Amino acid sequence: MTVSTTTTNELRALDKAHLWHPFTQMQGWCAPDHDPLIIARGEGAFLWDSEGNRYLDGNSSIWTNIHGHHHPVIDAAIRDQLEKMAHCSALGFTNEPAIRLAKALVDCFPADTLARVFFTDDGSTAMECACKMALQYWQLTGIPERHRFVAFDQAYHGDTAGAASLGGIGTFHERFQKTGFDVLHVPDVAALRELPPETVKTLAGIAIEPLIQGAAGMRLWPAGMLRELRDWCDETGVLLIFDEVMTGFGRTGKLFACQHEKVIPDFLALAKGLTGGYLPLAATLTHERIFSAFLGTIEEQKTFYYGHSYCANPLACAAALASLSLFETDHTLLSLGPKRVQLADSLSRHFGAHPNVSDIRQLGLIAAIDIVGENGEAFPWADLTGAKICLAARKHGILTRPVLDTLVFMPPMCVTETEIDQGISALARAVADLV
Ligand SMILES: *Cc1c(COP(=O)(O)O)cnc(C)c1O
Repeated sequence: MTVSTTTTNELRALDKAHLWHPFTQMQGWCAPDHDPLIIARGEGAFLWDSEGNRYLDGNSSIWTNIHGHHHPVIDAAIRDQLEKMAHCSALGFTNEPAIRLAKALVDCFPADTLARVFFTDDGSTAMECACKMALQYWQLTGIPERHRFVAFDQAYHGDTAGAASLGGIGTFHERFQKTGFDVLHVPDVAALRELPPETVKTLAGIAIEPLIQGAAGMRLWPAGMLRELRDWCDETGVLLIFDEVMTGFGRTGKLFACQHEKVIPDFLALAKGLTGGYLPLAATLTHERIFSAFLGTIEEQKTFYYGHSYCANPLACAAALASLSLFETDHTLLSLGPKRVQLADSLSRHFGAHPNVSDIRQLGLIAAIDIVGENGEAFPWADLTGAKICLAARKHGILTRPVLDTLVFMPPMCVTETEIDQGISALARAVADLV
């Protein structure tokens, strides 16, 4: 699978000539001294570049991969489905993998709770869909004045206009805040409780990344917060939207983050790990109570006019079914126990008393390490210290992407304990190279 150096260089030149990469300052990307890594192959928790170098996939290919790359069971499920059909529309038709996946997702929750599944393509559209359902629900039930949303400071819910307006990260979201939903940002539950009743009456829903805010730098919420939010929503009638796009499918140690506090939201958004990190697919789950408000004759105009060309794509649904089945056959969640312990141990051994580390956070198999200067001061943000450390880490055999100066370690869950220690040790060596 190794591509010759000439081919690699030709591909790099073509990339720089024609591609525009996400979340990337392309001036630096296209500069002569930058050699983009061309990833050519994956196996288990590892990726190989076009020149044959092997790396641990330290952030699960931006938080998507669950059971590893090139997994025989998921590969076979996609191939089997491909023999039959790659895609057909969910507008006016249905397909077996989508039906079976909807049933499998609903079965992850107590009976008669999240009983309806709407498929889209990405985390952003899963959130966009939840918000539009919430708005239309209030219109259909005669309370159209509930038209605003609450989201948290530092939140990240995706990049389509609506999802971005929920976002609370200045650099990403400020420019687009006025073009999406009407959103009120709050720092915490205490601030929520202080909202005047006349404001609360205008709220359609509240969105949160349960337990942990990913793009904010793996910020942990206090324990018990989900229960408090559920109670507040029950008191006020505001619909509760959980964005489990990152936390879903085992990342936090349970299949879903909401299960840690036994809280059922009114909408649940799933994406990234849904297909095991294979194909773009997302799902918005909701209650029958919400769904039934949309039922009526054509004249009543209650239809949810929303959808995408690839909704319920059979190949992606087949991959998702295979990924879900692996949780049972491979005892994925059970096997996380010792891996989480190993991760905690490796973090404290390599970074515990480190002069350049101000904080370490861990939840399940997600870890974050905040890097600072010797005297505890933050590096100037434009120095891109975190990014430089991650670049250096490649030489030590690990790929990951920081959030500013927070290093993220979040490998596929098939990673072994030895590989976890090697990964954390590689990050420690990269920090030593830089600071
Ligand atoms: C990644 C992410 C999204 C957006 O998902 P995309 O598939 O990138 O559109 C939304 N919410 C959270 C919590 C995420 O981590």
